[in-house]
Amino acid sequence: MTKQYDLLVLGAGSGGIASANRAAEYGAKVAIIEDKQVGGTCVNIGCVPKKVTWYAAEVADVYQKYGQGYGFTADSVDFNYQEFLKARDGYVSRSRSSYFNGFEKRGVDLIEGRGRFISDHEIEVNGEVYRADNIIIATGKRPAPLQQVGSHLVESSDDVFAWQELPQSVVFIGAGYIAVELSQAYHALGVETHLAFRHERFLRKFDKMLTDNLMQAMEKDGPILHPKTNFTEFRKNTEGKIECLIDGQVILTVDKVVAAIGRVPNTEDIGLEKTNIQLDDSGHIQINDQHETQAKGVYAIGDVVKRVDLTPVAIRAGRQISEYLFNQADSSAIDYENIPSVIFSHPTIGTIGMTEDEAVATYGQDQIKVYTNRFYSMYASAAWHREACDFKLITLGDEEKVIGLHGIGQGVDEMIQGFGVAIKMGASKQDFDSVVAIHPTGAEEFVTMR
Ligand code: NDP
Repeated sequence: MTKQYDLLVLGAGSGGIASANRAAEYGAKVAIIEDKQVGGTCVNIGCVPKKVTWYAAEVADVYQKYGQGYGFTADSVDFNYQEFLKARDGYVSRSRSSYFNGFEKRGVDLIEGRGRFISDHEIEVNGEVYRADNIIIATGKRPAPLQQVGSHLVESSDDVFAWQELPQSVVFIGAGYIAVELSQAYHALGVETHLAFRHERFLRKFDKMLTDNLMQAMEKDGPILHPKTNFTEFRKNTEGKIECLIDGQVILTVDKVVAAIGRVPNTEDIGLEKTNIQLDDSGHIQINDQHETQAKGVYAIGDVVKRVDLTPVAIRAGRQISEYLFNQADSSAIDYENIPSVIFSHPTIGTIGMTEDEAVATYGQDQIKVYTNRFYSMYASAAWHREACDFKLITLGDEEKVIGLHGIGQGVDEMIQGFGVAIKMGASKQDFDSVVAIHPTGAEEFVTMR
C-alpha cells in the first residue's frame, strides 16, 4: 500500500535534514529517506571531522610556531592520534545523534534504505511505495576519481576520515578547498605531507592575493608543494609504499595518495529515468530559479544541483522551499550573490563577492578601485614569528560600493560573517571607513584601508 506524505526528502544530509525539519515545524507530514549515514557528507566525512582535524592541527601549529617565543619550553608536543580520534569521532557521533532526536521531536519519519523514484511523485524504498505532491532531492556529491593507471591505489577524503593510524607520508592531489585544507592539517599533525597540483598555483578561482600569500606561507612552513605536477601512474613497490610516476619516472614515494579533484553529483540509481527530471550538461539535476526540476513539485538542492557547493547554501535553499510550501513564503528562490566562504588553511582565508580579476573583467578597470593592507599579526610577531596577513576591498564606481572582500590571516575565518551582512546591505567604502576600528585586532584592517 502506498504511504502518503506532504513532503518526501531524498537524502538526509545537511540540506535534506534542514528542509524536512522546517516543513515538519509547520505541521507537514514529512518523511526523509537515507541509505547511508544520517548527516550526509558534512557531518560524517566533511565539514565536521575536517574542522575538528583543523582544530587539532591549529593547536600543533600554534605550539610549533609560537610556543617557544611565548616562553614555553618543551621542544615539541607529542600527538596521540588515537586520543584525537576518540575526540573527533565522538563529536561526529554526538552530532549525528542530535539529528535522530530532532526527527523524533518534530515527527519526521526516517526511512532507511535506497530510495528510487518510480514516477514523478512516488519513491520506492525496500519494496514500499511512498507518495507526496512535493519532493526535495538532496542526494549530494561524491569524490571524483582519478583516471590514471593504478588509481585504485588512490584514496579520497572519505577514506582520510576513516584512517585508524596516521601514515608516515601522504600526497594530496588537487587544487581546491579539500586538498589545501587537508594537506596543511596533516602536515601540522606531523605527517610528511605533499600537495601536488596541475598548474603553477592552487585555488585558482580565488583572488590572487590570497593564493600568493598562502603559497608563500606553505613554501616556508610546509607542506611540500609540487606545482605543475600531473602524475600519470601509481604503483605499489615491494615495501608496500605507493610510487607516483610521470611518464615512467618515479617522482614521489609515499604511504598514501589522496585525490581531492572535485566531486560528482549523486544522480545514479535513484530512478530519475522514471521521471520527467532532467540533468544538465554537467550531470547535475536541472532546476529553475525556484529550485524546481522539470517534474512539477519536485525540487533539488545542495551539491546535486549546479549552484554553490557549500553546506549552508543547501540548508538555506531547503528551508526556503519548506517556507514556500508550508508557510506561504512568496518564493522558493534564494539569493546566491555574495555568499561568504572560508578556507580552513593556516592561516585561514575568508572571501566574499568578486575577485579583483572578475571585477575588472565584469565592470572594466576604470570602474574598479582596489584597496589592500598587509600587516604582521601581533600574535605571531610577539613570538618572533613573522606571519603576513593580507586584506583587500574591491569597490565599484564613484559610490565605491564594496563588491569584493578578501582576507588571509589569523582569525579571518571568524571575521568575515559580519562583513557579509554589510556587503549584502550594499555598504560602500565610506560606510566601512565610518566604523571605528577595534584595536588591536586583525579585523580593524578592513576599516582602515587607504
Ligand atoms: P574543488 O572543486 O574545490 O577543486 C578541485 C580542483 O582540483 C579543481 O579546481 C582543479 O584545479 C583540480 N583538479 C581537477 N581535476 C583534476 C585532475 N584530474 N588532476 C589534478 N587536479 C585536478 O574540489 P574539492 O574536491 O577540493 O572540493 C569540493 C567542494 O567541496 C568544493 O567545491 C567546495 O565547495 C566544498 N568544500 C568546501 C569547504 C569549505 O567551505 N571550507 C571545504 C571543503 C570542501 P586546477 O584546474 O587548478 O588543477
